[in-house]
Amino acid sequence: MSDFKDLLFIGGEWRAAADGTTFDVLDPADESVLAKVADAGEGDAIAALDAAVTAQAGWAATAPRERGEILRAAYELVVDRTDDLARLISLEMGKPLAEAAGEVAYGAEFLRWFAEEAVRIHGRWMTAPDGRSRLLTLKKPVGPCLFVTPWNFPLAMGTRKIGPALAAGCTMVVKPAEQTPLTMLELAGILAEAGVPAGVLNVVTTSSSSEVGKAIMGDDRLRKVSFTGSTEVGKILVRQSADNLQRVSMELGGNAPFLVFEDADLDAAVDGAMIAKMRNMGEACTSANRFLVHSSIAEEFASRLGERMAALTVGRGQDDGVDVGPLIDTDAVESVGQLVTDAVHDGARVVCGGEAPTGAGYFYPPTVLADVPAGAQINTVEIFGPVAPVTSFETEQDAVAAANATEYGLVAYAYTRDLDRSLRLAEFLDFGMVGMNTGLVSNPAAPFGGVKASGFGREGGFEGIEEYLETTYVALPAG
Ligand code: ADP
Repeated sequence: MSDFKDLLFIGGEWRAAADGTTFDVLDPADESVLAKVADAGEGDAIAALDAAVTAQAGWAATAPRERGEILRAAYELVVDRTDDLARLISLEMGKPLAEAAGEVAYGAEFLRWFAEEAVRIHGRWMTAPDGRSRLLTLKKPVGPCLFVTPWNFPLAMGTRKIGPALAAGCTMVVKPAEQTPLTMLELAGILAEAGVPAGVLNVVTTSSSSEVGKAIMGDDRLRKVSFTGSTEVGKILVRQSADNLQRVSMELGGNAPFLVFEDADLDAAVDGAMIAKMRNMGEACTSANRFLVHSSIAEEFASRLGERMAALTVGRGQDDGVDVGPLIDTDAVESVGQLVTDAVHDGARVVCGGEAPTGAGYFYPPTVLADVPAGAQINTVEIFGPVAPVTSFETEQDAVAAANATEYGLVAYAYTRDLDRSLRLAEFLDFGMVGMNTGLVSNPAAPFGGVKASGFGREGGFEGIEEYLETTYVALPAG
């Protein structure tokens, strides 16, 4: 593909950065330059916000059905262009084509879901408890938004913010990750084609995310920030939001426990582990990070998972038969490798993988570690790579305590055939989401989000649009 979109999208126009600078987007499979993309500075960022502010009143006044129809048209276009978008995602991010196509399907569903939600925004009418007044509420769009998105799902992490914001009547500036800006630029073109008016959605690509973020958030016309990324950057943005009291939604890091109890269906648990661990090469905030397995089956679980992981083919995401693409950059390979080395030093046993290949590209092999001590660093940080550390437990109480012993609280997975235990786990696991006998929780119709250091706010489901709405309450005397 030589016709990458590589300019900023501001006020419905494609334009270069004011100072004409660009930055390189690399192919993580061989480190070659895929494209040179406009490198926005503060002035460009404010121009994008100006466009969003100018478009806000008109977009908010659009009929809900019209916003819904535009979203629906965008959904159809994205699905029609699945092959092109999947190739683009695979090229700049590295994931295999089949997974990239899966992301397109998942990402498109947010456009369809929120097309349907656009016409279901409503308030209420009630009589006050003392009977003396009527209480009315109505919902209004929060106003211009800033979306900062990560590189691991370049399309879907965008559409789950863009979908509800468009449905609610908000305008926006999107700042995609510097590693993967091409997909978002392509999506911007598709949204314009679907009928999103000029200025409603603006995209600024930049290698200076901190400068651009500060400039936009420093402007009190911006009313909302939604971020998906690391907890570290999330905290910076929450602090920055304080000056202008912008509303914030934060989808941050995770450290998902994957619990396997002695009564689990082991075949299903291994299947689920493969999905929860290997989706996106382990580069997902929902990725299973710690496998906590009952001591009676820990050995068998590790060896069966090891067999499945060792059978995966690692290579360039666009090649046939590849299951596992490269990681995003050289830092990722180093940090994953260091966690494995440290775990082995602490007493873990390598069941498969464990060593990065030499040569170009940011590859790391699927790896299973058995007998990992509970306190090993690999159990305490987000791995963000294809490594599965297995640690054993003795009792349900121990398992729950170990699962909750993390600053994060995004998702926990559990395999058990005991219904009472399932219900207890749902109650006592301190996570925003629980996958019960499943390795996949993401669903556009469900509220995705975490607690504790995993952030706040929900994306998708009926809750997703609330992040973009304000409530006005109107008091009236009783008639
Ligand atoms: P990761 O570690 O997975 O790359 P980051 O949290 O660093 O995740 O990045 C997620 C997104 O946040 C990217 O779009 C990145 O450019 C952006 N980002 C990083 N630092 C800042 C910042 N200080 N202000 C605004 N955006 C930032």
